[in-house]
Amino acid sequence: MTADPVVIARDLIRCRSVTPEDGGALAFLQGVLAKAGFTVHRMTFAEPGTAPIGNLYARIGTEKPNLVFAGHTDVVPPGDEAAWRHPPFGGEIAGDRLYGRGAVDMKGGIACFVAAALDHLAAHGGKPKHGSISLLITGDEESVAVNGTVKLLQWAVERGEKFDHCILGEPSNVETLGDTIKAGRRGSLNGTLIVTGRQGHVAYPDRADNPIRGLVALIAALQAPLDDGSAQFAPSNLEFTSIDVGNQTVNLIPGEARARFNIRYNDRHSQAALKTLLEQRARDAAAGRVLYAFDWLPSNADVFVTKPGPFTDLAAAAIAEVTGRKPKLSTTGGTSDARFIKDYCPVLEFGLVGQTMHSVDECTPVADLVTLTAVYRRIIEKYFG
Ligand SMILES: [Zn+2]
Repeated sequence: MTADPVVIARDLIRCRSVTPEDGGALAFLQGVLAKAGFTVHRMTFAEPGTAPIGNLYARIGTEKPNLVFAGHTDVVPPGDEAAWRHPPFGGEIAGDRLYGRGAVDMKGGIACFVAAALDHLAAHGGKPKHGSISLLITGDEESVAVNGTVKLLQWAVERGEKFDHCILGEPSNVETLGDTIKAGRRGSLNGTLIVTGRQGHVAYPDRADNPIRGLVALIAALQAPLDDGSAQFAPSNLEFTSIDVGNQTVNLIPGEARARFNIRYNDRHSQAALKTLLEQRARDAAAGRVLYAFDWLPSNADVFVTKPGPFTDLAAAAIAEVTGRKPKLSTTGGTSDARFIKDYCPVLEFGLVGQTMHSVDECTPVADLVTLTAVYRRIIEKYFG
């Protein structure tokens, strides 16, 4: 009997696992994996000021190479449940689709990998053909992501676990299953530019120093292009998100003005080099006449890229064999837990089609669950072949 990804996905969707709640999702996975012979560890990670969160690591086999699948069972809130035509935690199948929060992001992806791994084990006498298969599953991805994959990886490495290659099952495809592998992500950095002037009466500007003039000049300088892209990335982008003076008065020159911005940057920059570049631009634009400072928020979202090579080739070939499509290697979109995994082993992202993720009536075609399972199965077979 082959494992049914649709049944596993439905059972996972029925767990109300809105971060930080688990809703029984990890216990369910533990049961399925333990029954198939995996050694399963459950860990709760905590930190002051954050909710403690459950995580799971499962492995079958003790040999190298260790192919690891990563994912998250937590989901974003459903919002107004009355707005859903199919209840967000019902796991209903209607027409040719499976509905529910997490159907594509990413309980569906987890279900497909579990089903593929179980099929592989069943075909090889209950063990991986060679090496090991592991799963790193967290309940802390959709929120602050501090008690999840970061700590799970540290925990695993401290007990001697080694990972050779990782597939993260986030919904990577744009329109059709097989169109996109994510092979990297841009970095993200947030900052605030603060210009200090001197408060005064608008009728006597010579007695004041309006910080808005300086802020506008510096904003213009910071908005100049950062680069023209790289082999695998679009150009980096700096976007101002708010300009704040907070002045309620009509005849007052304010004493301070601020502008917040976010940078999505490619592999031509590091965080430190970006800060140096922007501080230099501000210094030039200020020309000693504007008093300013930068306030940088800490960021754990560094840029990373998985270069095309044997691992991406293997995944692309498996996808092409099953779907008939040649996937594009993409680095678009927001950040993911791949930014943490990349410090341990090469990682690529391939999962379902992302169109309905985080939206009302999130759903996936049932056929996509079957196809994605076949793709994962093919990847596992090739990897150990
Ligand atoms: Zn996700």
